[in-house]
This record gives sequence, structure tokens and C-alpha cells, in this order.
Amino acid sequence: MSYAAFYQRSIDEPEAFWAEQARLIDWERTPTQILDESRPPFTRWFTDGRTNLCHNAVDRHLRERGDQPALIHVSTETGREERYSFTQLHEQVQRTAAMLLALGVGRGDRVLVYMPMIPEAVFTMLACARIGAIHSVVFGGFASVSLASRIEDAMPRLVVSADAGSRGGKVIPYKPLLDEALRLSAHQPDAVLLVDRQLAPMERVPGRDHAWETLAERHAGAQVPCEWLDSGEISYTMYTSGTTGRPKGVQRDVGGYAVALAASMKHIFQGAPGETYFCTSDIGWVVGHSYIVYGPLIAGMATILYEGLPIRPDAGIWWQLVEKYRVNVMFSAPTAVRVLKKHDIEHMKRHDLGSLRALFLAGEPLDEPTARWINEALGVPVIDNYWQTETGWPILTLAHGVERQPAKFGSPGLPMYGWRVKILDQATGEELTEPNKKGVVAIELPTPPGFMQTIWRDDERFVRTYWQGIPGRTVYSTFDWGIRDEDGYYFILGRTDDVINVAGHRLGTREIEESVSSHPAVAEVAVVGVADAVKGQVAMAFVVPREAAVLEDEAARLRLEGDIMKTVDTQLGALARPARVRFVGALPKTRSGKLLRRAIQAVCEGRDPGDLSTIEDPTALEQIKGR
Ligand code: AMP
Repeated sequence: MSYAAFYQRSIDEPEAFWAEQARLIDWERTPTQILDESRPPFTRWFTDGRTNLCHNAVDRHLRERGDQPALIHVSTETGREERYSFTQLHEQVQRTAAMLLALGVGRGDRVLVYMPMIPEAVFTMLACARIGAIHSVVFGGFASVSLASRIEDAMPRLVVSADAGSRGGKVIPYKPLLDEALRLSAHQPDAVLLVDRQLAPMERVPGRDHAWETLAERHAGAQVPCEWLDSGEISYTMYTSGTTGRPKGVQRDVGGYAVALAASMKHIFQGAPGETYFCTSDIGWVVGHSYIVYGPLIAGMATILYEGLPIRPDAGIWWQLVEKYRVNVMFSAPTAVRVLKKHDIEHMKRHDLGSLRALFLAGEPLDEPTARWINEALGVPVIDNYWQTETGWPILTLAHGVERQPAKFGSPGLPMYGWRVKILDQATGEELTEPNKKGVVAIELPTPPGFMQTIWRDDERFVRTYWQGIPGRTVYSTFDWGIRDEDGYYFILGRTDDVINVAGHRLGTREIEESVSSHPAVAEVAVVGVADAVKGQVAMAFVVPREAAVLEDEAARLRLEGDIMKTVDTQLGALARPARVRFVGALPKTRSGKLLRRAIQAVCEGRDPGDLSTIEDPTALEQIKGR
């Protein structure tokens, strides 16, 4: 079948289309009600079906491929390297499930996971899925204030963490960050479960903190059956940044997500059972949930969980793993490729990459030089894919599993089956049907399986944030600008809101501003994303100091810059730290007091700031230029 026909069927006959895809997974009760659109914009899938993500990722493979590798863990930080077959993974997950149950975790309870890339993190996620607990993984690079806000919102019964993570050989103690987060949080979990990697000393709070190792020993050999869950029950929540300082808990279901991933493994990633998938993301991001943990395992593939940098011990490490584990499908981010590009291409050429069929890249725009370089170096298709935490799986890419279609540099590709993608005029809501017209990328109802159910505990915010931004229409806004060309290929042109993308990670400038403002020497601040050759964007902070004297004193400015960076580091994490902090006497604002972020950004990037008729004090922009 041509991809065009495949896509059209998913739009014209969504129930028949998705009922067919639903056969890719195991159900305890096969759904007969496929699509429920009775409460727009909430789309529900497979409503009377019952299944379990862990069953589909682990148990159902036991008979045919119990001895084949399921989880391959490699840490170039600690030198740990180990393989778990599906049978061994099944044992580990059951044992972890027994540990969670012993700590009082039940169906519907939240388990917050704040862990480095170690197998215990995957066991925990799968164990939650097994017993119907809701996991909420927080990226290990976040610090105490970010963590505290997520703990308060998720209200977990249990937090699972470790003594430390490690990055580039530098140990990052997690436990003190967690303790500080719990001190800040109004919500307290009943228990904390801690893996001791023996990387950093760890203090335990008696009665609250439990040692993973002790519990694991106690529950060795435990058998915990999968809890069959209604398709619409919650599998996980995952926090993402938006335009306010308060992160949103993106909530996902069980059945729809399982089907969406199984279908994407077949039609997009073309992964076959017994093969190996290597996704270099982190379990703290949606890509890690979908394509380190659930997607490959659901497809019966081995998945590589890699802790470390792409260039340590040298820039050949990933390719060495591709050769060693005969990786068939790889998934990474443009930033990582830009980092590798700075190193000798021989690192790549030295290895036998013959097993590799394709490299998928996502998370940020893929620029042409990067795409060309990696494409030539690897000699396999490099496939851009565009999606979001909210969508769970790609909206735009090429479905080579259905039909091989040519890629266009700079474009993630075509709308994937099930996604009703439109380009809309932001002001009028009108659809821009003519090619090459810039508008907001929007999605019409019904949203396909795998798309977020709602914002955790806040249906109203879900509707307001995503579905009411475009006048006169109930459509989902991606908050991205885009165009569609005459061949139907889409191009993504950046965010419509104040979200920035640093090395493929999404950060809200408001969150960073709030953190910078908490420094007592700061009167006012504006944070903008500025183009960066490697990271895509970096955050730049413009600060009006409380003491004007700072402006004239270079030593004081440097001191304060370092101090502010440290504040953001300890509150939000190094990821959010501004690349530079610049001091100015005033910030450019409109007469009504709105910050002119876009003008600031344009000036920083050496572009024309555009219409400045509303600016209150034109010298403010001059000062930014001067910095
Ligand atoms: P996140 O929810 O953190 O995955 O971030 C999603 C955002 O990253 C999108 O809304 C886009 O702005 C950007 N993004 C993700 N993938 C791509 C891509 N392939 N091309 C361009 N932008 C992308």
C-alpha cells in the first residue's frame, strides 16, 4: 500500500485502522469500543480493552525469546556493562514489583523516579507498569527546586533514587538534592528507596529511607503477576516546561500508548523481534520512555541503556557499541551529532556498522550540514522526526515501514498516520491550505492513540493551554511555527511561545527567570534563547541589578554572574544555567510593561528586532546590543 493511502485510511476510518493496529499487542480483554469522542477535546481509545504495558514489554516475549537479550546496560562512567535476557528482566521486574508492594505502593499510586541511567531505573518503571502504579520520572539533571515542584504536583507515595549520577567522570550526588527537594516540598512520600552505587556517601532518614539492596535480597525470586488495567488507566505522568514557571504533568494512558508504540516500531522504526535498538536519550525524557524502555521491548527487541557521554573515552564509543551489539536501529539528537562532528570521522569509520539500518534524530531542528555529515559518515538513511512530550510518538517523519519515501533536508517529513496536521493562521484560526505559508502547526481531533490524556489533575489547564489558543477552533496547538511545501513536506520554524530548546531539551524561560530573580542582587531579569552552533540554543540572561554600581564594576559583574549561575545550578540544574549573564540598566518593554523577548533575542542573534513602535525606552535595546 502507498503511504498516502495508508495515511488516508487512518484519517477516514480511524476505528478500523486502529482496531487493526491494536492487534500488534496482547490484550487480556480485546477492545470492541475503539474510539470514544464523546467528551472533546479528550479522545479516548480502546475503552473497554484491558491490557498491561509490562506484560507487552516483557512477559509476552518469554516463550519465544526468553533467552534473548532484552536490556543491555553500558556505563562508561562506572565501567558497568551487563545484559539481561527477557527471562532475567522478568525476574528483576517481578522482584522490584514485590519491593514496591512491600513499601505500600498500589494501583494508581504515584512513584517518582529520580535516577541515573541504571538498570534499576528501568526495573522500577516496568514494575510500576506491572502493578498499575503511575511512574513519574524526573530527569536526573534537574536540581532541588525543579524536583520539589514535581514532587508536590505528583504527590508520590514512594520516591526511588540513588546515591549519585555521574557525568563525564564527575560524580553528581543525587541524595542531597533529593533531601533538599523534600525539605522544600509540601508533600512528603511515605518512603524513599535508594540504590547505593557507592559513588557518594549517603545519609539515610530512619523509617523513611530504604536500601534497594536489602529489599532486593528479601524479595529475590518473587512472583508478581501483571495487574490487568483498563486501557484508559494512567501509565505515567511526565513533566514538561511551558510558558509559566509551573511545569505540566503530561498524563498518558495504558492501552493507547502500547498500541501507538507497537505501531510506530513497525511502520516508522522498522524494528524486528530479536534485533537491537540503541536510543541515546535519557529515561527522564519522553524519547527515553517511548524508545529506550517501552517501544523496543514491546517490539521484542534488545534495548541499550547507555550512561555516559558520546565522546568518552573517545568519540568512537557509540559506534563501538553499534558494532559490539549489532545495533540495527539507532535514535539520537542533532546536538549529539554536532558534538561528534567536531571529532575525527575515523572514530566512526573504524567500526563495522554493517548492522545499522537507519539513524533517527529528534528533539530539535536538524540542520542540513549536520544531516549531510552524519548521512555521509554512516551511509544509512538519517531520518528526522518531529514530536513532543505531549504526543508520545512522532507527528512528522517518514514511515519507511509502509513505503520508502525520499527525505528532504530541513524537513522532518510528512504527517504520520492518525495525526490530522494543519497549518493555521495564529490570529484568525484560518487554515493555510496554500503551500509555503507560515502558520501554527496544529492538530485536529480526534488525536491518535499515544497522545496525552490530559494534564495530571488539571483537565481545565489541559483545555485552556492546548485547545483554546487559536480563535474559533478546538484544535491542539503544538506551539511551533511551520510551513508545508507543495509536496506536503513540513518544515518546523521554531516555537511560538517562550519555550527554548537547549541541546534537544525543552526549557521554559520563565522557570529560569524565576530562579535568577530569587537572587537578592537581581532587580529584574529577561531570559531568552539564543542560537548556538552546537546546542541549537542556549539561555542568555539579561539582569538589571539592584545596585546600579555593579554596572560600572567589572569585578562585581563577574562575581555576580558566577553567583547567579550557581543559583540556577542548585535550584534547577546545570541544564538550565544561562550561558552568559549580562547586566543592563533597563530591559526593553512595551508601554504596558510586557518584556520584548523576541526583540532581545533578535538583537542577540544580530537580526533585525522588527516592529519597535510599542517600546517604552528604545535605549534599553541599545544597551543589550552593547553587551
Ligand atoms: P519536547 O517536548 O521536550 O520533546 O520538545 C518538543 C519540541 O521540540 C517541539 O515542540 C519542537 O519545538 C522541538 N522539536 C522536536 N523535534 C523536532 C524536530 N525534529 N525538528 C524541529 N523541532 C523539533
